[in-house]
Amino acid sequence: MIGGGPAGSTAAALLAARGHDVVLLEKAQHPRFHIGESLLPLNTAIFDRLGITAEVAALGVHKPGAEFISDATGQQVRYAFADGLDKIFTSSWQVPRATFDALLFRTAADRGARVSESTRVTDVVFGGERSQVNAIGPDGTECRYAPRYVLDASGRDTLLAARFGTRQANKRNNTAALFAHFRGVARRSGELEGFISIHLAEDGWFWLIPLPDDVMSVGFVGNPAAFKGRKGTPEELFNARVAASPSVSARMTGAERVGHVTGTGNFSYAASRCWGEGWAMIGDSFAFVDPVFSSGVLLAMTAGEMGAEVAETWLANPVAARVRARRMERDLRHAMARISWLIYRINTPALRTLFLAPSNKLRMRDGLVSLLAGNLRGSKETLLPVLAFKTVYRLMALALRLGLPVGAPPLRSLPQRAE
Ligand SMILES: Cc1cc2nc3c(=O)[nH]c(=O)nc-3n(C[C@H](O)[C@H](O)[C@H](O)COP(=O)(O)OP(=O)(O)OC[C@H]3O[C@@H](n4cnc5c(N)ncnc54)[C@H](O)[C@@H]3O)c2cc1C
Repeated sequence: MIGGGPAGSTAAALLAARGHDVVLLEKAQHPRFHIGESLLPLNTAIFDRLGITAEVAALGVHKPGAEFISDATGQQVRYAFADGLDKIFTSSWQVPRATFDALLFRTAADRGARVSESTRVTDVVFGGERSQVNAIGPDGTECRYAPRYVLDASGRDTLLAARFGTRQANKRNNTAALFAHFRGVARRSGELEGFISIHLAEDGWFWLIPLPDDVMSVGFVGNPAAFKGRKGTPEELFNARVAASPSVSARMTGAERVGHVTGTGNFSYAASRCWGEGWAMIGDSFAFVDPVFSSGVLLAMTAGEMGAEVAETWLANPVAARVRARRMERDLRHAMARISWLIYRINTPALRTLFLAPSNKLRMRDGLVSLLAGNLRGSKETLLPVLAFKTVYRLMALALRLGLPVGAPPLRSLPQRAE
């Protein structure tokens, strides 16, 4: 297993618990910083299967839903997970990833995986019954492993996709992010306590994720237009975007930054294929979609579970494993397509209008909430509401393009409202 993030640790824990000899190699040393702190309710099913739900709850801030705020109109709307069509998992947590990832890694070790930190995989040579995995260990020595199956969970490093040259940038989602941790950011209280805030700004959006100890994770994800022709350090660019957003800057008056501002570009991508003979890519090593709906960790851990099944099947029956691997790739692409439909449109006036004034006719709003809670595989209950929502979106987009009046006022014509 290459990489001890959520995908790799999940797969390693499950395989080791089933009695397989698993080696989990991680180039960093846990606990280490990672972005991606807001989790989704359906992730809880996987925590339950790993037996760690209580521990995740203990290290995070309870998250009952998501609120969206528009800079252009001042509108504010909240989506409570409890309103979703799925009533089993109705809340989640926002977690410091350093401790969350360390918990997952430790769980893999506790289940029997042989874990090695500060160990960077440098190459994989395929062929024959066993592959050869080369790594550099903590003291700089070269190590070699000869696994029967390789799971690449190397995250955005995309070890195998980079080596095969199969990583393809997603041209429909060419965004970049700037983010940092702060103390002293105004937190929501009452019914909105623990909600993630998504501030819809000009040429992009902000996340404000409440973490323990009064820490707030604040990030800006922008279209190319948000950064074009602008020079400066990540900190200067970030500060300029905050200053340009009335709703975010109001909450950050007097906030104190903890740590650096970090930037990530070339955002969304996918490898053209996620499996082959004796290997599979899971989590971000296969594909990454924009984090506006906090789907990354759920997708990574889901892929971890699926990858573990494919690997286990491969050891017994490679023919059956190919069928499973094909199904895994189809299911993962389908899940990403479901959430990407919303992601591609999040900066359009039509989707923003619908999002900020949701109608529950045909249970459209509740279906949307189910999607936001992580129901990425789809279900009978969500089929009609989601279809209705997409149809209304298309009509709204057409009406706006033709300059026809629509139910809600066009976004940019409304007065700004103070937070
Ligand atoms: C700006 C931004 C905001 C995000 N916000 C959210 C959010 O709010 N909610 C959410 O759910 N998701 C979010 N995500 C996505 C989420 O962080 C990822 O989808 C998730 O971490 C993927 O898990 P993973 O295990 O596939 O990869 P990772 O978590 O990246 O883990 C990969 C591991 O592999 C290790 N590794 C890499 N190369 C090697 C090597 N050669 N040898 C050994 N080890 C190696 C790395 O050190 C790392 O520990 C966000 C992502 C970004 C970029």
